[in-house]
Amino acid sequence: MTDTPASELDFLVGAELDTLAVRAGQVRTAEGEHGDPIFLTSSYVFDSAEQAAARFSGEQPGNVYSRYTNPTVRTFEQRIAALEGAEAGVATASGMAAILSTCMALLSSGDHIVCSRSVFGTTTVLFTKYLQKFGVNVELVTLTDLDEWQSAITPNTRLLFAETPSNPLGDVADIGALSVLAKSRNCLLIVDNCFCTPALQQPIALGADIVIHSATKYLDGQGRCMGGAVVGRKEHMDEVLGFLRTCGPTMSPFNAWVFLKGLETLRLRMEAHSASALTLAIWLDAHPGVDTVFYGGLPSHPSHALAKKQQRAFGGVLSFKVKGGREEAWRVIDATRIMSLTANLGDAKTTIVHPATTTHSRLSDADKVSAGISENLIRVAVGLESIDDLKKDLDRGLSAL
Ligand SMILES: *Cc1c(COP(=O)(O)O)cnc(C)c1O
Repeated sequence: MTDTPASELDFLVGAELDTLAVRAGQVRTAEGEHGDPIFLTSSYVFDSAEQAAARFSGEQPGNVYSRYTNPTVRTFEQRIAALEGAEAGVATASGMAAILSTCMALLSSGDHIVCSRSVFGTTTVLFTKYLQKFGVNVELVTLTDLDEWQSAITPNTRLLFAETPSNPLGDVADIGALSVLAKSRNCLLIVDNCFCTPALQQPIALGADIVIHSATKYLDGQGRCMGGAVVGRKEHMDEVLGFLRTCGPTMSPFNAWVFLKGLETLRLRMEAHSASALTLAIWLDAHPGVDTVFYGGLPSHPSHALAKKQQRAFGGVLSFKVKGGREEAWRVIDATRIMSLTANLGDAKTTIVHPATTTHSRLSDADKVSAGISENLIRVAVGLESIDDLKKDLDRGLSAL
């Protein structure tokens, strides 16, 4: 939670993203360490019984127990909030814990969510299977269709939840237009900014109320640990923190430290991922073994103009349809030697996956068709290896089709 006195962060007022990514929220103990310390402690001692009482009552700010606050976690919270241009941030044990905590903090039985159909599959399961059990209903809409969003809103709608760009086809929602709609209907707009990160897109500046992250992906950037974050206005973050303190899906201080290291290189990595993905998309687009490429950076993509306006670059994730069906797609995947066959993304290591039979296998055949998840579709999350080697890795299978 952002509760460091503003004076301690004064030197960062007006600082650019690159400076915030390295410096925001930094603490230094009496040891004078230059690196960020990891506070691996579950609880904290008090100077006196009187101080303990004051800390417990909340009369005096300060640490009590690491489910409530931890200095390493707080540094991460301040840094991600600063990068997103938000008033405050809360760190969680995973991206799903971030989404759950936000919903538990802000929703009551009878409330309604409008959510884009193409969000991370587990988000849909959380909304439809679990929140529904507690009387929270969800309506799924097409990410890019503002009219659908508008007509799905009911008097009980409290949240609009969008993930943009979408996975794996790269469709982009107009965050500014959605935020105007949210305000006019008295809802909050939540954006899952996992694919772009604040290095490429800052939803709060575009009008979103709350931004959610799976830190597991690009914020770490090297596939090491699980974590999540929620940022937004202090009034909302206080509620999220309240849930977290009570229910416990807090971030580990060690993971917070790993994410701090990740954030230091975030912009450099996101630019490299984006540049390589664009190069690979252009190359795939011209490949005789490829039918269609989906990447917001290609002028042929339906969301290209909006992505260009709303994002600083197009990110590291692309997908493409090979000529043929499932068999041909699997052959191309199985012919790779460098890329990792895994559903994860946001890693220095390039990953490749067949969405129809893995990440999107829960969808019915009809839903797959309407979501564009065809049997010949392959998703690649482009890492930081040599782009020439990645081309060769895909060409092995594609040229043999
Ligand atoms: C992975 C992911 C999540 C969930 O995050 P975890 O850290 O795996 O819990 C949420 N949203 C998006 C877009 C994701 O890619």
